[in-house]
Amino acid sequence: MEQISERSRELLYGTWRKQRGWSPINVVSADGVYFFDSSGKRYLDFSSQLVSTNLGHRNGAVIDAIVEQAKKLPYVSPAFTTEVKIRAAEALLKVVPKSIRKFFFSTSGAEANEAAVKLSRMVKSPAYKVLARYRSYHGSTYGAISLTGDYRRWLAEPHTMPGIVRYPEPYCFRCPLKLNYPQCGLACVNYVDYVIKQESNVAAVVVEPITGTNGVIVPPPEYLPTLRKITSENGVLFIADEVMTGWGRTGEWFAVNRWGVEPDILTTAKGASNTYVPLGVTGTSKEVADFFEDHLFAHGHTYEAHPLALATIPAVVAEFERMKLLDHVKRLESYIGKRLNELKESHRSVGDVRGVGFFWALELVKDSRNTPFSDYPQRAIGEPGEVDRLAAKLLEMGVYVYNGPSWLIIAPPLVATEEQLDEGIRAIDNALKYTDDKYS
Ligand code: PLP
Repeated sequence: MEQISERSRELLYGTWRKQRGWSPINVVSADGVYFFDSSGKRYLDFSSQLVSTNLGHRNGAVIDAIVEQAKKLPYVSPAFTTEVKIRAAEALLKVVPKSIRKFFFSTSGAEANEAAVKLSRMVKSPAYKVLARYRSYHGSTYGAISLTGDYRRWLAEPHTMPGIVRYPEPYCFRCPLKLNYPQCGLACVNYVDYVIKQESNVAAVVVEPITGTNGVIVPPPEYLPTLRKITSENGVLFIADEVMTGWGRTGEWFAVNRWGVEPDILTTAKGASNTYVPLGVTGTSKEVADFFEDHLFAHGHTYEAHPLALATIPAVVAEFERMKLLDHVKRLESYIGKRLNELKESHRSVGDVRGVGFFWALELVKDSRNTPFSDYPQRAIGEPGEVDRLAAKLLEMGVYVYNGPSWLIIAPPLVATEEQLDEGIRAIDNALKYTDDKYS
């Protein structure tokens, strides 16, 4: 079976890395919160793969929905409609914020964001600028990578799409404005009002309600309501990128619900199909939808609104309800927070613990001045650093944790029990000796 890894090196690209030295683990099966390699070794999935298999592995109801749809009608051109599309949209209407009333379906988070930018620019024409944060990730296609502020990701696209303007993030652990919350008066978000007015021609502001791959940055409570107010007052669309934060990850269907914020456009993917089939969703308000009554909706794909993908949405919603998963996540939120804060107490290399629901980061530091283990964002992506080595040690110990250059992202499937959470946290506790030893 080692042949599979070898053949993978020959025939496939390993993404976001140099190809030399790539020896991917050959995963043969998965169930619940665990997956298994070809030697029979079991791994606890402590990051739901890419913060995406929120219902866990091999969920029977979601698999059945895909299989039944495949037998009935696996594909029909977007020019036609079919019941599965309406069932998907109606299931979504039950869970998205009330402002979101109409949907465009694609095949990834990146495509969902591409559509959000295009629609905003059409609706707000001639305004075309889109504000996006420095520490952000919105996908790797041309428009989505241009929105992305994490410039380590731009290697292949140095000439990103024009019309993107940056604004700072509420990263209180190392405030980009060198201020302290709450004395700062939320200067980072109030600055957005100034940027919009100075730039003019701004069509939309895009925001990950909680920054995901760039370090699980949870904003202060007033942040998103203030951003909503600023965008409304300036007649600019508010796009919530809920590709990672949606589908119960925060204990609510969508993260904006935690702060009662209603976006004009909401994008999501990942948990929408439990990542079993490719799916992106761009949901819009009635105002955005109304614009296209008499204007060309100049967008579309062969694979849009794919029946196999759409069949998963009602099944996912029903599984959340059957297992009362939002309650489960809310119930265990403070337990995870407590256990992770204990790690901070006992490990000098843990500089910050932040998160909500089943979505947490441990930010690792290499000295008492809280210096990050990486020189993020300067160090190139794909050059392994100390935190990559920490994650590799965890994998050896049978626990998979997705990591950034200076942080671990702890985001177990929402079906994880308290005992399974303990299993992962115990392993991290043991592995942190590695970064503690590098601390000076
Ligand atoms: N937006 C956010 C917030 C993400 O976290 C991601 C992926 O991690 C994307 C967009 C891109 O999604 P995809 O990889 O499905 O294109």
